[in-house]
Amino acid sequence: ELRNPNEPEFLQAVTEVIEDLIPYINEHRPDFADLKILERMVEPERVLSFRVSWLDDQNQIQINRGYRVQMNSAIGPYKGGLRFAPDVNLSILKFLAFEQVFKNSLTSLPIGGGKGGSDFDPKGKSDNEIMRFCQSFMTELYRHIGAETDVPAGDIGVGTREIGYLFGQYKRIQNNFTGVLTGKGPQWGGSYIRPEATGYGLLYFVQCVLDYNNESMEGKVISISGAGNVAYYAAEKGIQMGAKVITLSNSQGTIYDKEGFTLEKLNYIASLGRDLAKYAKKYPSASYHAKENPWQFKCDIALPCATQNEINEADAKKLVKNGCKIVAEGANMPSTAGAIKVYDQAKIHFGPGKAANAGGVAVSGLEMSQNAIGQQWSPEKVDHRLKLIMENIHKTCVRYGKEPNGYVNYLKGANIGGFIKVAEAMKAQGVV
Ligand code: NDP
Repeated sequence: ELRNPNEPEFLQAVTEVIEDLIPYINEHRPDFADLKILERMVEPERVLSFRVSWLDDQNQIQINRGYRVQMNSAIGPYKGGLRFAPDVNLSILKFLAFEQVFKNSLTSLPIGGGKGGSDFDPKGKSDNEIMRFCQSFMTELYRHIGAETDVPAGDIGVGTREIGYLFGQYKRIQNNFTGVLTGKGPQWGGSYIRPEATGYGLLYFVQCVLDYNNESMEGKVISISGAGNVAYYAAEKGIQMGAKVITLSNSQGTIYDKEGFTLEKLNYIASLGRDLAKYAKKYPSASYHAKENPWQFKCDIALPCATQNEINEADAKKLVKNGCKIVAEGANMPSTAGAIKVYDQAKIHFGPGKAANAGGVAVSGLEMSQNAIGQQWSPEKVDHRLKLIMENIHKTCVRYGKEPNGYVNYLKGANIGGFIKVAEAMKAQGVV
């Protein structure tokens, strides 16, 4: 805390990990303690902060702050998304970068961990303003990244459009068409299934949890928060797998449809932009709940897919009381420490983000492979590999998280499973 003042999210993410790792290291790997592996892992290899000035549509100068946190490169180039949102600060990016190190290791692909972004708010900005901002952001960032150094991707507020503007500017400065960003369009170096990957991967992970407990997806009631990239494709895959998806939400409110969404209803939601209230006017089976989150509704499976700390202890208690059996995180750190304690006491199956939402970065890793060999794989091939990767992550969690009574502590499993590979690499590479 002394070393990282005013960084509550970063301290929260680190605490969540070291509570599992310190006992493990003490018992099984004193060599990692001697080498101060953990102490080194909580210190980013490099933190960049830079000015981003740009002209708005009224020709006024605007100033934002850009960041890139290059957390750990022991097992591969830094990799992790860029977030554009007004609440972005160093604490949030350091927590995300730290989580990313474990997540990327769990995918079994050779990618290190990083994260970046800006306090720029894309909401309400024109297309031209977004483009000018992205060009200015990349005019500084380009010198710190590269296909074999650091490969950013999208996150909140950064989708294919923003990746396009960022990529265009990088290529223009460097005169080099290279896999320096992932999440590109499929016509210009992107991988099929990348937009779907986090949401689909989340459902593949939930399927593994159900299989492990001899249960099926058919008819399960799923509550999802968010209405962005992750939430949308999680809902789509859930419906395709035979579950009943009853909620989606955004920062303004929640829609609850007691009959469940269909793919057609989902298309309609996608057409609404952020005005979810309209949905309840069209479908009589639905209601709109302004300023409320989805955790009050009865469900078997909860999939938080919006943002950090969106399920607090009270929300978690509501979920448990209503009979929820699985919480799997599509978003990064959506559960507070208090919420996780509630899951633990109730012995809910809890898939933490670093395991359950790793499908997105996994397909980003596959995009890097495709770029490196100059090929584009079919959607079926990518989807198949995604499924195998999620099954493998589930296996790793079981291997390191299974307790003597048979209960699987997925958080512990993901923390230890993600850590070992990085720690071995750091040990092999000496004191750096
Ligand atoms: P998007 O920007 O596409 O969507 C975010 C959604 O969450 C929007 O519906 C937004 O609503 C809602 N939201 C944001 N902040 C809040 C809030 N404070 N309260 C309620 N709702 C909120 O982002 P993504 O779907 O890409 O990302 C969602 C989460 O998943 C993030 O935690 C991200 O880090 C994580 N993630 C994303 C991956 C990816 O591949 N995209 C990969 C792995 C993790 P509104 O429009 O009203 O702001």
